[in-house]
Amino acid sequence: MVMLIDTPALAGLLARVGVETFLAELADRTEQDFALWESFEKSARLATHSRVGVLELMPTSNDEWFSFKLVNGHPGNPAQGLLTVTAIGMLAEVATGYPRLISEMTVLTALRTAATSAMAARCLASPGARTMALIGSGAQSEFQALAFKAALGIRRIRYFDTDAHAMRKFARNLADSKLELIACGSVAEAVSGADIITTATAVKGTQEVLKDGDVGSGVHINAIGGDCPGKTEIDARLLARARIFVEYLPQTRIEGDIQSLGPNAEATELWQVIAGRAPGRTSAAELTLFDSVGFALEDYSALRYVYDKARALGIGREVPMVPDPRDPKDLFGYVRGLGS
Ligand code: NAD
Repeated sequence: MVMLIDTPALAGLLARVGVETFLAELADRTEQDFALWESFEKSARLATHSRVGVLELMPTSNDEWFSFKLVNGHPGNPAQGLLTVTAIGMLAEVATGYPRLISEMTVLTALRTAATSAMAARCLASPGARTMALIGSGAQSEFQALAFKAALGIRRIRYFDTDAHAMRKFARNLADSKLELIACGSVAEAVSGADIITTATAVKGTQEVLKDGDVGSGVHINAIGGDCPGKTEIDARLLARARIFVEYLPQTRIEGDIQSLGPNAEATELWQVIAGRAPGRTSAAELTLFDSVGFALEDYSALRYVYDKARALGIGREVPMVPDPRDPKDLFGYVRGLGS
């Protein structure tokens, strides 16, 4: 049997665990897996680009589990009433090769992206950070805000989006969050006085959402929206000024904001900081930047976390996705007599 976590089941799981607890626990789980980075098979994701978006396959594995996610990114989708990012994921047991979990990953991707952002910021932001600027109030935004509250102690969000409707939605969704929400009229106004800046915009093209002149020293930038070839959101002069951290350098060089710095752009892989092999923030004045594109190991951590939690809480359905014949060599027995 294969456990199926569809969107109602994931909602049920979130209701039982609590969104903030889920985000904080997932950040811890992801950090534990990043510490074991060298024990995972890694590759840049397989991407199929079209004029309007991208479809990506993201696999990874260790000795115990193989996971993959199928995810898309279509910035024009909201204009048609569709999500920019949707996904499904799967977990299979290495010992037998049997699939064990099929899960919705649209909401789960937002949760794991936010948990990863918070995990990175724990290593890279100033320890006393309390105010975050959030540029882009779309589908990912509330998850980002709550992960930074739960895992870092962020208390105040200064937010801006070019779409006023998205800003109203953001404020409505977080009205009960106990976060202080400050609506701003521009990127420059939002980032003023912020300890952390998260950029989560979606435009298929090269943007300079965050300009060099708007950002002072000591800030940590969590850049999640530049995640495809030709799709960036950070001013190259700002990148050149920052100490840059990435998930998996071979993938980020192709997809991240650092593509603006050329094919040999240098950055520190985050796992090295988590494993104690490289320093995180080294001074209060340092400008740090996490060039997040999303890596398969984060999906692995999220799927493993959901699988364990769902089993412990009795959530999800077991579905017969694999035949279970009495004689494993008699697969034809399943179709014999069904007509020719
Ligand atoms: P979305 O389309 O729901 O929201 C994006 C928002 O950005 C929109 O509300 C839009 O109005 C706003 N925006 C666009 N240009 C802007 C600008 N110049 N200034 C201010 N706001 C602007 O998309 P989403 O699902 O929230 O995703 C946001 C981005 O994050 C996308 O680019 C997506 O590909 C990326 N993403 C990255 C990861 C990762 O792991 N790094 C994971 C998921 C999504």
